[in-house]
Amino acid sequence: MTDCLFCKIAAKDIPASIVYETDRTLAFRDVNPQAPTHVLVVPKEHYENAAALAAADDGLADEVLKAAHAVAIREGIADEGYRLVFNTGPQAGQSVLHVHGHVLGGRSLTWPPG
Ligand code: C5P
Repeated sequence: MTDCLFCKIAAKDIPASIVYETDRTLAFRDVNPQAPTHVLVVPKEHYENAAALAAADDGLADEVLKAAHAVAIREGIADEGYRLVFNTGPQAGQSVLHVHGHVLGGRSLTWPPG
């Protein structure tokens, strides 16, 4: 998609702090981190949100989930615990309409979210 920020990051047309990459996924640090580790995991292909990605039914959602866990291992937060969040739609506060999983950790996280 030509006018999508995360498509441009995935294509490396816009720089990002990349922490993990596979053929079909990319993980990069959030520019406004909400925890000591705050990484976004995206499919390189454009899907608007988690629902659209799940509906694609081609294994890509599975790859994104596995990439998120690989990030947690690399960041050293897999054992102590981390949060994986896919804000989906306006009421959840999704602001970038290219599906992304937030990998958050490195501190104690409260529940429920705001
Ligand atoms: O779930 P939501 O759509 O609100 O999350 C978008 C995230 O993308 C925010 O956490 C924001 O800080 C991040 N972002 C980024 N780099 C940009 C623009 C937004 O990491 N250039």
